[in-house]
Amino acid sequence: MSGRDTIGLRITGIVQGVGFRPFVYRTAIEHGINGTVQNDTLGVLVHACGEKERLEAFVAAIRADAPPLSRIDSITIEKEPPADFTGFHIKKSARLDERSAIIPPDSALCAECLAELLDPADRRYGYPFITCTNCGPRFSIVRDIPYDRNNTSMEPFALCPACAREYGDPLDRRFHTQPNACPSCGPHLELRDAHGTVLSADAREIARMTAAFVREGRILAIKSVGGFLLACDARSDEAVLRLRLRKGRPFKPFALMAGGIERAESFLEIGEAERALLLSHERPILLLKEKAGLVSRHVAPGLSYIGLMLPYAPFQYMLFDADPDLLLIMTSGNVADEPIVYRDREAFEDLGKIADGFITYNREIEQFSDDSVLFVERGRPFVVRRSRGYVPVPLVLQAGGPEVFATGGDLKSSFAYARGASAIMSPFIGDLESPSANELYRTEMDRFRSIYRFEPRSVACDLHPGYFTTAIAEELVEKGLRRIAVQHHHAHIASVIEERNLAGRVIGIAFDGTGYGTDGRLWGAEFLVADRASFERRAHFSYFPLPGGESAIRDVWKIGIALLHARYSADYPLMRRDAAAAMVCEMIEKRLYCPETCSIGRLFDGVAAMLGIAESVSAEAEAAMLLEEAALRGAEGRIDDAWTIPVAGMGPELISTESLVERLVSLRLSGASVEDSAYAFHAAIARTAVGVAERIRETEKLNGIVLSGGAFQNRLLLRLIIDGLREKRFDIHLPGKIPFNDGCLALGQIAVARGILRHEQR
Ligand code: ZN
Ligand code: ZN
Ligand code: FE
Repeated sequence: MSGRDTIGLRITGIVQGVGFRPFVYRTAIEHGINGTVQNDTLGVLVHACGEKERLEAFVAAIRADAPPLSRIDSITIEKEPPADFTGFHIKKSARLDERSAIIPPDSALCAECLAELLDPADRRYGYPFITCTNCGPRFSIVRDIPYDRNNTSMEPFALCPACAREYGDPLDRRFHTQPNACPSCGPHLELRDAHGTVLSADAREIARMTAAFVREGRILAIKSVGGFLLACDARSDEAVLRLRLRKGRPFKPFALMAGGIERAESFLEIGEAERALLLSHERPILLLKEKAGLVSRHVAPGLSYIGLMLPYAPFQYMLFDADPDLLLIMTSGNVADEPIVYRDREAFEDLGKIADGFITYNREIEQFSDDSVLFVERGRPFVVRRSRGYVPVPLVLQAGGPEVFATGGDLKSSFAYARGASAIMSPFIGDLESPSANELYRTEMDRFRSIYRFEPRSVACDLHPGYFTTAIAEELVEKGLRRIAVQHHHAHIASVIEERNLAGRVIGIAFDGTGYGTDGRLWGAEFLVADRASFERRAHFSYFPLPGGESAIRDVWKIGIALLHARYSADYPLMRRDAAAAMVCEMIEKRLYCPETCSIGRLFDGVAAMLGIAESVSAEAEAAMLLEEAALRGAEGRIDDAWTIPVAGMGPELISTESLVERLVSLRLSGASVEDSAYAFHAAIARTAVGVAERIRETEKLNGIVLSGGAFQNRLLLRLIIDGLREKRFDIHLPGKIPFNDGCLALGQIAVARGILRHEQR
């Protein structure tokens, strides 16, 4: 045994359910290594015995050639007492108490499985539950860890002899593929009409029938990976409008699905980075610029960016195989802004009034998730919604600390648990405005806690006294947890500090909808100097009244009048001065239910109204999106522009909202077009923001700057500010894996809570 060593390897990361053990097995055989490999609740554990050089080569190969869906976070190697292994074996999973093992995310169908799906000679020809170790459902079917078949919703399906052979053969692509199945042993598909009558149970026939129904203008509810999707013909005005009507969704854009990248490229501008993301195994929706009018203009009314994704589930491929010319709307199966429906029973109840037919299957979705949404700007990807394909991959926390539960916020809601050096974030839950969304949030929170056995002693939440997520934190306080309330925009900036592992203080620009401020007002255009534990507010836009409070989000004309009234009193130009407007003026003058805000989101809404772009809207940020569109049509430089918004005061500086309004009024009255004025508005904000940042840099000697807040989903504003900051040589830090919008709050709350806890210990 001379020259032979025995070592133990502990591998953490995404190493379960991704073919890691067979990969280790094959690698060991190739390198002449004896020993064992097994899954446990911490990841993968290897005992390896062999000559020193061979062991080194073995470990190097594990690092270099890991399977496509895996992600190694760490490999720790320990020397062990000499052991006598004969050959190399895959051992049964061990159950340990500590639960930091990772559940892999759902992944798009791989090329090999796709080829088999479409091959008439293959035994899985046309079988919509085909999967292998490199692809398929994971997180969506998991009930518990470790990730084994009997802990998933595949548990009721006993493997047939052929599938069992694949499952048991370390050299097979389906070795230990937990959802492995075939037509004779696995789940199956059904097509039902709106009354629940089964029309077909033959998958290939269902694909043909579905394609034909879509052509006839019908709406189908298709049970997908993380829930039901609603599909209809994206080229038919009639079908799209019917879907809008039935879904109660007049404006919000719908996402599309095309059969392949070439098809998508025929009407959308797709750059390199976008193409790579569209084809990635996460298969998100990408927001892409329309270059030809191939789809109904009602898909994304008035907007030049359209969301599109490529097929990721086998049945979706079968659908486009049946009719390659299809262009589908594929939107989350829900009513209005309710959470996505993912249980069959609820589907027939809730979607029965929307869908003309249902495509379902007899396997439960254990964990819902919406399709993820990203966009690319200045060559970089930005997340709008982090869900299917990305969740529950842990976010790496740069500094350790105690376990913390962060409740997030009430809009674009998502919570997170932190343990050690990682945070597990929930999928996108949506806006917590309905009882069903609240219920889903609670269920999900408990589900995560029990699966991962989280036992946090602190709960971080937003400062807003009226948030549902704040009430959740209060309930946990009654159970003995300590509550740490985090100011909304501090959390925004801290989320990027955490993700980018920034040390010390940074300048933070939070351009946002509304967030509760430490003065009880509604903040949302904030220049902070912040680190994890604390922040100072250094500048913001001056306050203006929000008539009717946050309900003015829908009646944006009221915000327009409020902005004009603040500068011109009741004698304002541009907008109507009728009885309804007079009532708004009276509310403002008497300060009746007019909370003050400086939110840039509301400023965008009000300016859209002032310029006559929007009056009343059906969704938050709708008016702001239309204002951005107008600005994109307007031209750079047509209005001379070095104009910046006057700033007054010191601690904090006040950026004059009134002067900005006055400037826009004078542009319009002197004959500038709505589009050019909209552009000038964006440019003035960007130029002013860069100027304010420069002054803070001057006094604080800080060059690092962080951008966060939903207003940066305005691509023109983002572009102008990034370009301006680059020109002035700031170190710009942007979110990468988390959104600009409130979906980032939970991570920021964790960063702040741990920052405060660490500070106290010192
Ligand atoms: Zn596969
Ligand atoms: Zn089978
Ligand atoms: Fe926010």
